[in-house]
Amino acid sequence: AVAEQYNTLRGQGSEFIQNTAYKLEPIKTRLCNALEREEFQVYYQPQVNVQTGKIISAEALVRWLHPEKGLISPAEFIPAAEETGFIVPLGEWVLQTACRQMQVWQNAGFPLRIAVNLSARQFRQPELSSRVAQILAETGLEANSLELELTESLMVEDAESAIATLQHLKNLGVCISLDDFGTGYSSLSYLTQYPFDTLKIDRCFISKITDGCTNAAIVKAIIEMAHSLCLEVIAEGVETEAEKDFLWRYKCDMMQGYLFSPPLTAADFEQLLLEGK
Ligand code: C2E
Ligand code: MG
Ligand code: MG
Ligand code: MG
Repeated sequence: AVAEQYNTLRGQGSEFIQNTAYKLEPIKTRLCNALEREEFQVYYQPQVNVQTGKIISAEALVRWLHPEKGLISPAEFIPAAEETGFIVPLGEWVLQTACRQMQVWQNAGFPLRIAVNLSARQFRQPELSSRVAQILAETGLEANSLELELTESLMVEDAESAIATLQHLKNLGVCISLDDFGTGYSSLSYLTQYPFDTLKIDRCFISKITDGCTNAAIVKAIIEMAHSLCLEVIAEGVETEAEKDFLWRYKCDMMQGYLFSPPLTAADFEQLLLEGK
């Protein structure tokens, strides 16, 4: 599939490909042109109800299909995109693409939600909530089918304006999820100050959960704390049956990880849905 897409890309931008100078182009310059060259793809990873094993949601994860290097992971280009500000148009494109795709799946009879990551730079855009509202209107997706994933680092910078932004998003009906929970440096008091709906326990606590180490105690405590604050909990990076059993026993609500499925292309994700998972 990658080769096929590469050939399509070749056709689209042949004069560009022939120009060998692009090989010397720094990632930041190439990145800015990758949107119009249609080199990005959204992958979807299932989020599963721990008790029933059913897919209830999908996280949208962007990939860059570089004509030379193949698929590039977001960890490699999101920091550069963040630095240059390119993350704003890129993030909007991901949001639009993911909302449109989820609307298609909902119309096909799959009542799922879509989770989309928001970067710090996007979060600070004054027009963020009106852009989100506009994308929801354009795609026809219900606001409560959209979950925005944010990280703790956004909360510590400017608490007052962060709370105001979150409130604007909440007023639209969008859900807010706190990603990579437990890896930041902020105080726990913000959990009661900010209108979150879901805590996403970072992958680093889930791995080795069953080795009898302190991670098990931490995960149990996070689940209990979240539930007593009326928050849902999702575990990320679930890779083994033993981890899943642990999460089931301690009543974690949802899970996401390679055990169930890696992030998939839209076509492969749809196949999974059709198989009745
Ligand atoms: P994240 O939002 O915490 O996403 C979860 C990451 O964990 C994804 O990496 C996913 O592929 C990976 N993962 C899922 N299950 C497992 C597992 O069982 N084991 C392991 N080892 N990894 C697992 P990915 O797709 O490489 O994305 C990395 C990060 O890049 C994301 O972390 C997110 O912070 C950022 N990112 C991805 N797409 C976007 C986007 O559209 N916008 C923004 N702003 N950031 C994005
Ligand atoms: Mg995420
Ligand atoms: Mg995460
Ligand atoms: Mg993470």
